[in-house]
Amino acid sequence: MTSRRKLGKSDAKEPKDIKESELELEEEIEEIEEAGEETEKPEEPEQPEQPSEETPGEEPEEKTRAVLPGDLIGTSEEYSPRNGTYVDKGNIYATASGIVKINTKDRSISVIPVTNTPPHIQVGDIVIGQVTDVKDSVALVEIAGIKGKGEREIVNADQAAIHVSNVKDAYVKELYYEFAPFDIVKARVIDLRNMRLTTVDKELGVMKAYCGNCRAVLKNDNGKLKCPKCERTETRKISSDYGTGIV
Ligand code: ZN
Repeated sequence: MTSRRKLGKSDAKEPKDIKESELELEEEIEEIEEAGEETEKPEEPEQPEQPSEETPGEEPEEKTRAVLPGDLIGTSEEYSPRNGTYVDKGNIYATASGIVKINTKDRSISVIPVTNTPPHIQVGDIVIGQVTDVKDSVALVEIAGIKGKGEREIVNADQAAIHVSNVKDAYVKELYYEFAPFDIVKARVIDLRNMRLTTVDKELGVMKAYCGNCRAVLKNDNGKLKCPKCERTETRKISSDYGTGIV
């Protein structure tokens, strides 16, 4: 209800408008409610059934704490560890991605795996991202998606790095020959804490690259990248799927 009051506030000087805007707003609210939100309208006694358990975000905020494997969730002095947890030196960690559940009665703590939560990046995941910067020893990548986990927003998406030692199965003379800013890359996650990626495998590497001269998309010409516009050639650590759009 707070949202209705807030939205009507701007029309406070003209009572007629308030009514109209409230009516409009109620229609909007109704639509929202039909989508499964909680309903509070007093003038409508028959409330639609609330699929509250299926609606994400309806649980009180303080009770839902999403964690990743290895996240510290408590100490064995505070809680007794249950499912989805392990203890190391008195600290309790999550073994699974999920929601922390604390039972205040027996002071137990567990992690409930939640498949409905947005995907977390995990070691071994193949990710798609864009190169944002290339330095002497690392290429920085902004992760945009995880293979097989849909187009959903990623919880722990962050900047990742491909170290010069993880580029390919051969000597890398200059990282600038392997990646360039704006390149779209496919890489595998090898380290979560430092968000390190590798492109060593054949199918990993640059998926799409742009001409450093005219910005056109480079075409794969027998392992070399060629600009169809200005004919400049460039090198990259390309994926065997370069140009296919296949992730
Ligand atoms: Zn060009």
